Amino acid sequence: MEVIIAVDDLHPEPGWGCQNDIQTAYFENLWEEFGCKFTLFVPSNYHGKWPISKHKDWIKFWKSKDWIELAAHGHFHACDRTDMGECEFLELDTNQKVETRIGMCLKEWEKVNHKPAGWRNPGWVAHPEAIKVISKYFDYAAIHEKHNHDMSWDCKTFIGCDGINETDIKLYDNTIMFQSHISGDWNNNVWNKENYLQLKSSLKYLIDNFDINFMTLGEKSNIKNVIYIIKSGNVEYSEHTIPLIYKYAKKVSADVIMFDDKKFKQTNYPSSNFMAFDIWKHFQSSHYEKMMYIDIDIRILDNAPNIFDHVDKFGMAEDWKSDSWRKEALQEWFNLYFAGTICKNYFNGGVLVSDKDSIKKLNNLVPEDIVGFWRNNPDGILHSQNQGMINYFIAKSGIDYQVLEPKWNKCCRNNATNKDYFIHYVANKSQIETNFDSFMGNKYNSNIKMTLESLKMM
Ligand SMILES: [Zn+2]
Repeated sequence: MEVIIAVDDLHPEPGWGCQNDIQTAYFENLWEEFGCKFTLFVPSNYHGKWPISKHKDWIKFWKSKDWIELAAHGHFHACDRTDMGECEFLELDTNQKVETRIGMCLKEWEKVNHKPAGWRNPGWVAHPEAIKVISKYFDYAAIHEKHNHDMSWDCKTFIGCDGINETDIKLYDNTIMFQSHISGDWNNNVWNKENYLQLKSSLKYLIDNFDINFMTLGEKSNIKNVIYIIKSGNVEYSEHTIPLIYKYAKKVSADVIMFDDKKFKQTNYPSSNFMAFDIWKHFQSSHYEKMMYIDIDIRILDNAPNIFDHVDKFGMAEDWKSDSWRKEALQEWFNLYFAGTICKNYFNGGVLVSDKDSIKKLNNLVPEDIVGFWRNNPDGILHSQNQGMINYFIAKSGIDYQVLEPKWNKCCRNNATNKDYFIHYVANKSQIETNFDSFMGNKYNSNIKMTLESLKMM
């Protein structure tokens, strides 16, 4: 789980994030004690009185710390109008006005030799015209779930606004974003002693209970790959497999996003496997470049290399029964409902790696009513939830794919060894971490053969 700490409104005024301020000491304590990192959102000329270009030492001080990211937070922060708070970029409602103001902002940053990758709207909100312009100049924007009013940005966006003073924290795609203001008497999430101590105890709780990784938003926006998993219901074996997925994600610098019960309950799907198609859509509109979907009954062995380096555009491994009968059955299904579509491979749905381009082509084929589609085109003896459909979309789309070697998705009953990378338990899920599991405790025991027969003895 990643933890982001964002602080708004810093500027070179004493009491607002200067070297000797108490808030600065709090940041330093949290860095030393827990390894916290901070993204500081700085207005480039706060209220027209604090141009950063006149305070180069202040910028230098913060830039000297590798656990600090400096991001942009408007120019003046304030408005000319007096009836809209300090929503600088809500007031600026034409392309021209916004371009001019952003120009002033970036000029200040240029003078201090820093190019901010990130942006947050002063007062959270902005005019739709402003967003179009801002998106061009920044890699990402930190936004508020509600105040963003579903506006779409052309840059990456990160949602989150849990005050450092709060005790009830929300997760967005496995990330917690603490939000705060450096100072001021109109916000209750400022860096006073009480809030500092509350944040400290929240962090302590998180560190004691989860695997926590502190990041700046800039670092987060540089993560190019994402691993999706689906977990719904009480799946006992997943307590052995999911930690290995997270471990792998860390190794290959990927984020993990879980589609869970909460998401499943919002759908009318007969099974949670159908969320695979929601994952495709999520990925298409995300800022990531490549995705992997992996079943949670797959164990990732420590020797597995980075699959994102291995797959160029799109890759899946064939089902181990593909040649014996499943490919033939798939072709028969195609002939029945999708005449003219040729089945060259029958892929197993357990592991799928894709770039943006391929997933877009697939998404174009996924019907709005996927459950209706599934019901109206029953895949007969294949009897699959989503696997038949995934194979159909791949065959139909004509995407350029790689057939992955079996070791990237090895059925446990197909002589799995420690030379393989991803071991798929398919029908043998109850073998995971039992005496019938040749990978028990993640140590390979070649004397144990995993078979359906051995399952019957359990
Ligand atoms: Zn602000």
